[in-house]
Amino acid sequence: MTPPPNSLEARDIAVQVHAAVDHRLYEETGGLVIEEGEGIYVFDNTGKKYIEGLAGLWSVAVGFGEPRLVEAATRQMSKLPYYHIFNYKTHGPSVELAEKLIEISPEHLTKVHFTSSGSEANDLVVKMIWYRSNALGKPAKKKILSRLKAYHGVTIASGSITGIPANHTSFDLPLERMKHTLTPDYPREKLEGESEPEFSARMAKALEDLILAEGPETIAAMFAEPVMGAGGVIVPPEGYWAAIQAVLKKYDILLVADEVICGFGRTGQMFASQTYGITPDVMVTSKQISSSYMPLSAILMSEEFFAPIADESHRLGIFGHGYTASGHPVATAVGLENLKIIEERDLVGNAARLSPQFLGRLKALEEHPLGLWSRGVGLIGAIELAPGATPGATGRAVQAAMLEEGVIARAIGDALCFCPPLIITAEQIDAMFDAVTRALDTVAATLS
Ligand code: PLP
Repeated sequence: MTPPPNSLEARDIAVQVHAAVDHRLYEETGGLVIEEGEGIYVFDNTGKKYIEGLAGLWSVAVGFGEPRLVEAATRQMSKLPYYHIFNYKTHGPSVELAEKLIEISPEHLTKVHFTSSGSEANDLVVKMIWYRSNALGKPAKKKILSRLKAYHGVTIASGSITGIPANHTSFDLPLERMKHTLTPDYPREKLEGESEPEFSARMAKALEDLILAEGPETIAAMFAEPVMGAGGVIVPPEGYWAAIQAVLKKYDILLVADEVICGFGRTGQMFASQTYGITPDVMVTSKQISSSYMPLSAILMSEEFFAPIADESHRLGIFGHGYTASGHPVATAVGLENLKIIEERDLVGNAARLSPQFLGRLKALEEHPLGLWSRGVGLIGAIELAPGATPGATGRAVQAAMLEEGVIARAIGDALCFCPPLIITAEQIDAMFDAVTRALDTVAATLS
């Protein structure tokens, strides 16, 4: 339906270029205008209320309309709205948040650098890895591994590590130095009779084969989301991370854990690296770090990772990198307050406690005529739906029906993905899945 002339929707179409849309389709349909948010809910410009089943973009941990974050931003805005961390300057909010991150993260991660988005953070980690390899006298060690269906962002480097065709096609990506191995999607890709540990061993073998084919001495690092998010919520099968890390160790390849979605409680522990026994050299965080109230990301690194970079900057006289907004005082002040709320309200514990109910409701959808298999951990999960005539058609239809029922969630292909705010309650989980079930019934009725 074309929006009425002079409506916000029509003005938006006239002037704004959007993200992740078909631009020509958008000119016909326009977008849903979200005006307000409160708790797990958002409201559109007709006053209709929706459960935000994806927490915005997997990110609003403490929910919408949290006054403490507004106050933290206002306080910092009044005191020092902006300063930078270039040229031998620093400020309190960035130091305090860095200290907090080091306190709550795995022990060996002892240094932090702030950026403003997940893409920027991953992009910079690639640069730091290249800089580090040069510093170590290993200029050939530059290739970066990741996995098909991985999502690490959309800058030229992070978009190249991403393993999703839509983020590559016609953008002339990926860069030559980025190589992709198999997706650990056990339910979809398992061989007849193959157990999860056997599947994991096959994934590790495929990784090793790729390393050997490329030349181990040319490979610097592997980037990986502990649980793959935008690829469709793909949960690692049993034994996967142990097998993968053994291969990386064998060939002296760094591991970068992209915790942009998983970090700060999503899996029922503070970091998914803890959930899966991952010991990363670098951990990238964003999204729930500030509940996305401010653009913020943080790169956490080990001393061993940082030391050659520091030495190289000393040799050159400068670390020639930085953004105007790196360590932004308002963003870092909001981040710190947000992490305090996550701790004080025990939102990590809330995710762990409500996980069985959340995953149970997803599992129950397997019995629906449109349901195939579910997966998830903590408060992130998905139900795979039976594909229609064209792949993704069922997902799109159910996503639209859910919107009618007052639930915003993401269909990735035919997988319905959920990642609600960490403040969600047991009653709200039931209300969300009751509405999803009604949406599935509506779509099933149109197909029968
Ligand atoms: N890494 C992961 C795992 C993500 O899910 C995302 C975004 O969804 C990114 C990186 C990129 O973050 P941003 O959109 O802030 O650039």
